Amino acid sequence: LATGARNRALPVPGGDHPDLLELRSLDHALAVRDRLGSAGSIAIVGGGYIGLEIAATARGRGLEVTVVEAMDRLMPRTASPALSAHVEKVHRGHGVGLRLGEGVARIATDGDGRIAGVETTAGDLIAAELVLVGIGILPNDELAAAAGLETDNGIVVDSCLRTADPSIFALGDCAAFPAPDFGGGALPGRIRLESVQNAVDQAKCVARNILAEPAPYHEVPWFWSDQFDMKIQIAGLTAGSDRQIARLDEEKGRLTVYCFRDGRLAGVETVSNPGDHMACRRLMAERLSPEPAEVEAAGFSLKTWLQAMRG
Ligand code: ADP
Repeated sequence: LATGARNRALPVPGGDHPDLLELRSLDHALAVRDRLGSAGSIAIVGGGYIGLEIAATARGRGLEVTVVEAMDRLMPRTASPALSAHVEKVHRGHGVGLRLGEGVARIATDGDGRIAGVETTAGDLIAAELVLVGIGILPNDELAAAAGLETDNGIVVDSCLRTADPSIFALGDCAAFPAPDFGGGALPGRIRLESVQNAVDQAKCVARNILAEPAPYHEVPWFWSDQFDMKIQIAGLTAGSDRQIARLDEEKGRLTVYCFRDGRLAGVETVSNPGDHMACRRLMAERLSPEPAEVEAAGFSLKTWLQAMRG
């Protein structure tokens, strides 16, 4: 089962307006491109990946842009506070209007029923010609549930991506699987990953497990997002980390955030620092981890550390 996911609908009055924009399919992408070309302003609901990538693109095309994010920081689901703060600064610097800690109460329309903007939960009207909703996805697990398989925010599978029925596997956005142990102990419960890398690597794993001796899925997750001139890359699973060490090179616009869990490196977030990103992917694949004290030392470089470990 590779049934994927669908966009969450906005559960407010007007949340089903036919002119609301979203992004998931090719048709959505073509509609967004088309509408951005002929509008002067856009309100974006959701300050996650989708919302911020479109905010940057729309701003680059000269639109007036406002992002409404219900939580008190950007990319709250996936980013550390240090990365959120950096992304916020860059977006504000490019003139993106940000309303953090505010939800949307309703979609505002004019006398003819056309979209006129959004009203926030604080009662403010943000006037905009276009409104795009990017508030996350829901896994398509109904088929599995109807077949009697366990679902719990996705189709429940074991470490080999197999459901309780030995002849049925699930993978990608819709699969809830036990996170691989990268050396610091396993994360409790199951996770679901929404990324290209995860879908591709899980497909290879399932193919192998059908054809050969089953082996657990163990790939290091990685994610990316391009916003303005920021190349944001995340390696590992940084959510739930208990200690973060951030290194910002303001001048070069480079950021690296080392995220630890129980004293082991859980992942690294980088902005425009692909060397650290690749080094993190490699060392996590080898289940290696620097000590937090090593990372804190002046001049620490993950690449150099990895080279030294390999002798
Ligand atoms: P995606 O990867 O599709 O952008 P994310 O889960 O990363 O999805 O981001 C969705 C964002 O939308 C989250 O940061 C979430 O807090 C925010 N959000 C969800 N519901 C609302 C809402 N009603 N109003 C504003 N923001 C919302």
